[in-house]
Amino acid sequence: MSVFEHINGDGYEQIVFCSDDQSGLRAIIAIHSTALGPALGGTRFYPYDREEDALVDVLRLAKGMTYKAAAAGLDLGGGKAVIIGDPRRIKTEELLRAYGRFVETLGGRYITAEDVGTALEDMDIVRRESRWVTGCSHTYGGSGDPSPVTAHGVLNGIKACLLEVFGSPELAGRTVALQGVGKVGYALCGYLVNEGATVTIGDIDVDNMARAVKDHGVETVPLEDIHKVECDVFAPCALGGGINDDTISEFNCKIIAGAANNQLAREEHGEKLRDLGILYAPDFVINAGGLINVEDELRGYDRDRAMARVEGIYKQMQHIFTLAKETGLSTAKAAELHAQERIRKISRIRLVRTAEFGPSATN
Ligand code: NAD
Repeated sequence: MSVFEHINGDGYEQIVFCSDDQSGLRAIIAIHSTALGPALGGTRFYPYDREEDALVDVLRLAKGMTYKAAAAGLDLGGGKAVIIGDPRRIKTEELLRAYGRFVETLGGRYITAEDVGTALEDMDIVRRESRWVTGCSHTYGGSGDPSPVTAHGVLNGIKACLLEVFGSPELAGRTVALQGVGKVGYALCGYLVNEGATVTIGDIDVDNMARAVKDHGVETVPLEDIHKVECDVFAPCALGGGINDDTISEFNCKIIAGAANNQLAREEHGEKLRDLGILYAPDFVINAGGLINVEDELRGYDRDRAMARVEGIYKQMQHIFTLAKETGLSTAKAAELHAQERIRKISRIRLVRTAEFGPSATN
């Protein structure tokens, strides 16, 4: 496979291959764009079958981060890293510190955070070798687990959807089918119930289901039925790809709005939802709370401020709905357009620099 085939045309700035024989580290850091600021994105630790799969994944994820940061109105670019291997087998202090050394060499062009296969305590270790780490634990001045903040953003996104569809953002009396009650889904479930919504849940993990039932008194349905529940809002908070050829005709909701990344299996599913009269909250807009939270860490973390900033997702969603109506695009496409426009406009402003008058200027 030609590496340049993957990066040409899509505007990737830099791909760094990191190797450390002693610790067994094999990692790829992809910087898609620094047009709006340093490229921030998590480190995924995953046992990819082939190096090619790791490269394709990191490129896709890095580009997604550019869009997420741009749409959220942040001064951040997009990047991502993958460490190849099974974290349960090869994750060691030595390997994480070797990885941290590579992050440090990029001088802040790339800032990392946790992702699938990495956790808060791993970021604390990476931080011992690099300043360019977010999502560390509170002990190290970090922002801790981002999930409740992400859930708060999703809650606000859902309210914007309710306003759009029903003319009121109120949750009281509304019905929500929640797929996945893990870190984000559980927190969201609590927020929804507190605001008077009737919530039904489905999850593959019986312990997670039991916890949500015990703490929030919600109803459950079998896993395979959760997306078919008749409700106002279907909230996917498990894995990506849940909106696909098999499920698209089975939804029985007015709104799809949840935390999961990459919810649409294919781009055209966004258009299909619009044609079915289902309002879709673009995933990278509604789930940006976690990113806003770690970005706040760069300023000296303040939880209340982070929560307040995340409420801006409400307005961002409204802007996207307006754009979708004006352009005739699906909300998914309108969100991409919104992100692209912001990158174009703000990166142009950033090219304007103060003129430098050195000795040569007078010659
Ligand atoms: P998590 O692993 O804590 O929770 C996921 C839950 O989904 C688990 O309870 C799991 O058992 C369940 N699940 C897995 N497969 C399922 C299936 N087929 N059907 C129903 N349930 C299933 O993860 P999380 O941190 O809560 O993240 C949830 C989603 O939100 C992921 O897609 C993640 O990428 C995305 N996201 C999370 C954050 C964050 O702050 N944690 C931020 C942005 C996006």
